[in-house]
Amino acid sequence: MPRYIVVASSNGLEAMRAVVEVLRGGGSALDAVELGCRLVESNPRDHTVGLGGLPNLLGDVEVDAAIMDGRTRATGGVAAVRGYEHPISIARRVMEQTPHVLLAGEGAERFAAEMGFEKTELLTPEARRLWEQRLREAEPDLEPGLVRYHEHASRYLGMVRDPEQAAGGTVNFVALDTHGDIACGVSTSGWYFKYPGRVGDSPIVGAGLYADNRRGAAACTGRGELAIRGATAHSVVMHMSYGRSVDEAVRLALEDADSLPDGYATGLNVLALDPQGNHAAASNRAGSTYIWVSDEVAEPQQAPRILLGQDPHASPPPH
Ligand code: ASP
Repeated sequence: MPRYIVVASSNGLEAMRAVVEVLRGGGSALDAVELGCRLVESNPRDHTVGLGGLPNLLGDVEVDAAIMDGRTRATGGVAAVRGYEHPISIARRVMEQTPHVLLAGEGAERFAAEMGFEKTELLTPEARRLWEQRLREAEPDLEPGLVRYHEHASRYLGMVRDPEQAAGGTVNFVALDTHGDIACGVSTSGWYFKYPGRVGDSPIVGAGLYADNRRGAAACTGRGELAIRGATAHSVVMHMSYGRSVDEAVRLALEDADSLPDGYATGLNVLALDPQGNHAAASNRAGSTYIWVSDEVAEPQQAPRILLGQDPHASPPPH
């Protein structure tokens, strides 16, 4: 069993070394996942999280984030927040300094200001350019769910456009520290062209994230509406508590969410870690990967997600 381990969505790669340093030095899983999310939030090249995130229907960047402490199942989240670069840290303050678990919109922004967070313009010139380009340019070969999603957006915008890639993106970090504690952090700018005020799965405990020292942790990326309806992160952890392996748990929970009727269906992914440091991830789209690093390997490792509809034991093992 590893002494410590961190598992993340692939866009967490640049932050992995810093996250591992926290764990190597005996720091907490909670500090590690917060730091990981903060580093991705500050990366303007990642257009799915924090600074440089792609905006909503009206051109405003609105971010969601949450953090969960597996020791106590304490959690904090913020949703539909504008103008703050580090929603993950605001979420942690919600967890530690309020009697609540989730603050949204203006209330969350007010709280961030009270806590001394600085206001920042999250819409970078590059993100604005990409957003405008995707408004204008039609792209063939989109999957039906995305076509419908863009048709829906264009009814509001009076324009037609299609992006060449998925409309969303999120960063997930799940960590097990040297004290045996587990934590999970998730941060996102959500789906671009989303309706203002739309909240995805990322700040919703049980949907986009869940962490429980006794059973393990899980976090999602992709179409948040499905992860909310399927309570996907909590489902993974429940499957593990009923004795399923982490591989089986991610597959079963994702299969359930993926089976829900959804005219806008597109990619949905989940990753998970059990208290022994075993990990796995699943996706309903081929070619999706995740990353992990522990005290037992020198470098971050990339691993394939189990593809729904395939026997996981027929694919290369995820770890
Ligand atoms: N899950 C995120 C949301 O629904 C977006 C994504 O990961 O693609 O807001």
